[in-house]
Parts: sequence; structure tokens; C-alpha cells
Amino acid sequence: MRRRFRMPDEGDLAAATIEDEGSAKSKMKPFRTIGPSVPPREGTGDEFAVPRAEMIERQLRRRGISDSRVLSAMAAVRREEFVPTEFRPRAYEDAPLPIGEGQTISQPYIVAAMTCALHLTGNERVLEVGTGCGYQAAIFSQLVKVVFTVESLSELAATAAARLERLGYANVHVHCGDGTLGLPDVAPFDAILVAAAAPGVPEPLRSQLTEGGRLILPVGDAENQELLYLERHDNSYETHTLEACRFVPLVGYYGWKEPPAR
Ligand code: SAH
Repeated sequence: MRRRFRMPDEGDLAAATIEDEGSAKSKMKPFRTIGPSVPPREGTGDEFAVPRAEMIERQLRRRGISDSRVLSAMAAVRREEFVPTEFRPRAYEDAPLPIGEGQTISQPYIVAAMTCALHLTGNERVLEVGTGCGYQAAIFSQLVKVVFTVESLSELAATAAARLERLGYANVHVHCGDGTLGLPDVAPFDAILVAAAAPGVPEPLRSQLTEGGRLILPVGDAENQELLYLERHDNSYETHTLEACRFVPLVGYYGWKEPPAR
């Protein structure tokens, strides 16, 4: 197993305000999952095949998710691998579930809806902010060329990186740090998804979009947010409001300075 760590440079750390138990070392620990491309296990002993198929039908298709590439990705990724053992039997529930550290894996429908909104065709470089357990990154992995994902909590970043590598998602690169800063070293991105609730649109994320690039993120207060969709054209951003949603807070320099009371 090979994993390359890139130590942060001054610029990365200067703006990071995430509270972190450790030293600067644990503040920005990019984990790069590089390794042999082992296809995700398929077919054998799939005890979750039925609940997964039901999730696709009841939670996604019936609610209007019709993009066949997104549906295939949701059918291929084993959600039970991304939740803590005690929650495996509930992996396909129509709800977010705890993943430790006070964070959650998003509800399947919201993962599918946000992914659809980005209109991915297969060649994109994508950034996800808020890796959590790595489930959304695994979905992206099926749909685009390369996925960069940033998680601020080092435990979650390390676990997600190891899990994605074990499951063979070789085009996903996990970084640890404040994702509100984006990833200037590997920008720009054709699409950016923020999986945590922001008080506004983080400027670095907008500016790290390619021409025609798309950004989707939940914006609002601690309790209620709406999904915002932005598309970059020249230096202006066409913006649409999509549906109401509820995410854990985006805590960082261009997010909440500290977790808002919930
Ligand atoms: N996409 C995830 C769900 C993420 S929950 C999945 O599929 O499981 C939101 C995550 O955002 C949490 O893990 C939280 O720790 C992380 N987060 C919050 N603020 C962040 C920031 N500034 N940078 C990176 N990650 C952040």
C-alpha cells in the first residue's frame, strides 16, 4: 500500500482556523490514495443487493432522479461499507446516519440530487469539500476522471482514505485541511460539491472553478439551508436556488468560524 503525504506549505496553514487537537502537522495532512486499481467487489455474497435496489427505486427514481449514469453509480457503490458496523443494517435508510466525530453520511437522495445537478459527463476534475466517510467521493469516482476531496477532521480523513483505497477507488485523492480554501495547488475544477452547510459561498471555491464550472453547496443557518447552484461564465456566476436541505456546518476560514449552536 502506497500513500503519499504532502506537507502543507505556509499559505495552506496561514488561513486555516479549524480547531485541531494536534500540531500543525495534523492540521493539513493530505492523504493521497494511490495504488493498484482493484475494481470494487461485485456480485459475490451481496447481502444488501435488495435494500440497495429498493433505495434506487423508492428513494431516487420515484423522486425524479432519472440520470442513468448517476443511478448506475448509486447502484454500484456499497453504502454499507461506508457506515460504522452498528449502522450497516440501516445503510440504505432514507436518512443521514452518524459516521463518528459528530458528523453524518448524507441521505442517499441528497447525494444523488446534488450529483445530478453537476451534469457530469466523465472527463471532469471534481472537488468535494467534506469527505466524511468517503461515500460521495466513491460515487464521483464512478462518474468523473479524478476526484479531490478535503476533510478537516484528521481521523475521518485518514479512515476515508484507507477505506477508499481498500475498496479500489483509485482516482480519489483525500486531503486533510480546511476545504473552504479549496485546493489551489490542483485547481481549477470542473465541478465542486460542498457537503456541509455554509453561511455564504466561499470565495476561493468560486474562483477555483473552470470556465463553465459548476458549484453546488448548502447555504443558510445552522438549522435550515437551501442548495445553491452556481455556474461560472467569464467572471460572473449564474446562480440558482434548488431545494431545502439540512447539513452539518462547514467550519473554516470561509465558513463558520466555529460550529454554530444547533
Ligand atoms: N460527503 C460526506 C458527508 C460529509 S458530512 C459523505 O459522503 O459521507 C460533512 C463533512 O464536512 C464532515 O465530515 C465535516 O467534518 C466536514 N467539514 C466541515 N467543515 C469542513 C471544512 N472547512 N473543510 C473540510 N471538511 C469540512
